[in-house]
Amino acid sequence: MKTQKQVQVIARYQLKRNGHVVYTVRSSSGQDTYTTTLVNGKATGCSCPCQSGHCYHKPQLEAIEARRQEAKRAAFVAAFDPCLVA
Ligand SMILES: [Zn+2]
Repeated sequence: MKTQKQVQVIARYQLKRNGHVVYTVRSSSGQDTYTTTLVNGKATGCSCPCQSGHCYHKPQLEAIEARRQEAKRAAFVAAFDPCLVA
């Protein structure tokens, strides 16, 4: 079984223009940084040299982004819907 590489997020930002989310990640060697783009929670591109099928950044960042959106939703519900009916 292959050891699962763990993506290391350096930065996340959202493009105001189109809502796309861009993550900057550190390569497993620690020497380079790559950029992974998510559109509506779905990873659409990664600048790492792996072919798309072998890129471990995209699925992990999709999971990270999904957790982030869920946390945001929970915070919104807690702030604006104290009875938790939403
Ligand atoms: Zn990648």
